[in-house]
Amino acid sequence: MSGLGRGVAVLAVCLLAACGPTESTTVASEPANGTPANETPLGSRQPTKVPPPSPAARASEPVPAPELSVTAPPPAPAFTSTVSAITPELASRMSPSWHPGCPVDLADLRYVTVTHHGFSAGEVAQGELVVHADVADDVASVFRILFEAGYPVRSMRLVDDFGGSDDASMAADNTSAFNCRAITGGTEWSQHAYGRAIDLNPVENPYVLGRSVYPREGRPFADRASGPGVIQPGDAVVQAFETIGWSWGGAWASPVDYQHFSLTGG
Ligand SMILES: [Zn+2]
Repeated sequence: MSGLGRGVAVLAVCLLAACGPTESTTVASEPANGTPANETPLGSRQPTKVPPPSPAARASEPVPAPELSVTAPPPAPAFTSTVSAITPELASRMSPSWHPGCPVDLADLRYVTVTHHGFSAGEVAQGELVVHADVADDVASVFRILFEAGYPVRSMRLVDDFGGSDDASMAADNTSAFNCRAITGGTEWSQHAYGRAIDLNPVENPYVLGRSVYPREGRPFADRASGPGVIQPGDAVVQAFETIGWSWGGAWASPVDYQHFSLTGG
C-alpha cells in the first residue's frame, strides 16, 4: 500500500506539472517518471484508442493520452448520374421488358444511372433505370434531390433482372421504371410501357386495392406509418417529382399506388 501511495503522489505531480490538463494536445508516449514497478509495461498497451481515464483511474495509473488523430474522415460520396442510349448489348438484356409492338421504340428510351443511398448507414450505390428519352434528364435531377435529402432506395435494377416480372421486382423492393406491360388489372398500356413512370421502394410503398396489397411484402406498410423509405403526402419525395411535373399514385382514391410516380398522373 505504501509503495502504491508513493506512486500515486508522484503521478499526481506528473499529471499536474508535466502531463498537462488537456488530452487533445499531448503527443507524449511515455510517462515522464515515477512509473511504479508493478505497472504494466508500456509495450503491452495499445498506443491509441485508449479511452479517457476516469478521475480515479487517472490518480492511480499513468495512462498515455491518445495520440492526436490526423486521419481525416472519408469524403462524403457525391451524386453522379449518366444518361445514354440503349446499346445493342443492353437491348439484348432488355428482351424480357421490350419487344416489337411496344408503344415506344428502343431508340426513344434511355439508360440512366444515378447514385442513391441504401437503407444501411453509409450505404451508397449506383442504381439504373430505363426511361423515355424525353424525361431522362428530369429523372436524373429528381434522384439528385432525393440523394441530397438522404432518401434511401433499397434496390434499383432493370426489371429485366427479374425476368420482366413486375411482381418479382416489387417483391424484391426494387425500384424500376420502363416495362412494356399493361396497367395492373387492365389491358391498356401502363405509363411504364412508355418509360414515363417509376415505382419507388415498392415494399415500403405498396399498391393497395381494397384489402389487397401488392407486393404482399408491403402489407406491414399499408397503414402508412412513417419510416425509412415510406413516402408521405407532400414530403420531399413527392415534392422532388413535382419539380419535373410528375404526380404521385399515393394521392389516387382507388387503387392507391404509393410507389408510383408518372408524368401523366396515370
Ligand atoms: Zn407504377
